[in-house]
Amino acid sequence: FLNVQGLRKSFGGHLIVLDDINFQMEAGERVVVIGPSGSGKSTLLRCVMGLEKIDRGRIELEGARYIEANPKSKKDNFVDIPVRNKVGMVFQHYTLFPHLTVLGNLILAPMRARGESRSSATERAMQLLARLGLESKAGAFPGMLSGGQKQRVAIARALLLDPKIMLFDEVTSALDPELVTEVEGVMLELAEQKMSMMIVTHDMWFAKRIATRVIFSADGRIVEDAPPSKMFTNPSEPRTADFLKKVL
Ligand code: ATP
Ligand code: MG
Repeated sequence: FLNVQGLRKSFGGHLIVLDDINFQMEAGERVVVIGPSGSGKSTLLRCVMGLEKIDRGRIELEGARYIEANPKSKKDNFVDIPVRNKVGMVFQHYTLFPHLTVLGNLILAPMRARGESRSSATERAMQLLARLGLESKAGAFPGMLSGGQKQRVAIARALLLDPKIMLFDEVTSALDPELVTEVEGVMLELAEQKMSMMIVTHDMWFAKRIATRVIFSADGRIVEDAPPSKMFTNPSEPRTADFLKKVL
């Protein structure tokens, strides 16, 4: 389903952040990526989203190659944009446009990227807002929302493009504790609907709850890849055990 082959990513030519990453996931899997700060978790998600120029490797979704390193270009990968648009991502810091209402934020990409009509995009956006309990916020500007509401809108915005896979990069770590559960609740609902997900989180309790698989990354490599029951109780690698001792 998602297939990352021989992915290498460096910054400035010398700082190798991801070194020959090979990673596959099946549809419906929920892979949580854990690892020390600076180990390349965000960079991995950004590469899968097509936001980083990669040095080597390729990434496929449903058998279609949508990102491939382009050794001739300093700036760009080879990208198949329609396939890439099937990947949705939500970031740690709210990335809503402050000058647009919630509804304006939601319908922008469907109209621009898919040429959907305003009325159709609006109808889908309102349905999704209702599902998330945010109907009354359609006309509000992001500055008037709580952090948890902003993140739920950010998730809704990604979902409106009908992604095949959703990437979440520490989407709750900037939130007050009481707002975390409302965002995690939306992610757990998506899990029930069998959405494929890659999730970076420092919240090991949530990781145990949502993951079908956990990946421990360090020094640009995948050190261990195991189901949560194994990863959190009986990891194979000393490095994983060491890390988990500090964070559990
Ligand atoms: P954290 O847990 O703190 O979020 P992370 O595992 O997500 O860490 P990344 O943000 O992927 O780590 O960063 C991996 C390495 O790449 C770090 O050393 C970081 O400084 C470096 N890096 C990330 N983005 C850039 C950039 N745009 N330019 C240069 N170096 C970068
Ligand atoms: Mg990060």
